[in-house]
Amino acid sequence: MEKLITCINCPVGCRMTVTLTEDGEFISVTGNTCKRGADYAKQECTLPLRMITAVIPVDGSDMPLSVKTASPVPKRLIKEIMKELSEVKVSAPISLGQVIIPDILNTGVDIIATRSVEK
Ligand code: SF4
Repeated sequence: MEKLITCINCPVGCRMTVTLTEDGEFISVTGNTCKRGADYAKQECTLPLRMITAVIPVDGSDMPLSVKTASPVPKRLIKEIMKELSEVKVSAPISLGQVIIPDILNTGVDIIATRSVEK
């Protein structure tokens, strides 16, 4: 089977055609201008990854804390990760880059603060 996707690695936005087996295994890709596109196509069609961003409440503060995954996580886990994030609360002080949840859902990826919060 064939799947049409757009490479998001640069502004060129190459339209690519990915050929997969009936079981969804990657066979080939055409339409990419460079290897980054081919790597993206294979990843996107076999194990799509996404960065996740969110805001969580800070005890004693009206301003929520913005957080993100330190690196991309499997797209299929977005809902579960957002649920985990909806249940976490933190207290100031928090420093930029501080790990808020280590190894979320055993992905090996930490949830980190994207800003500092003074006490
Ligand atoms: S395939 Fe290469 S040139 Fe095309 S959008 Fe992706 S990164 Fe850019």
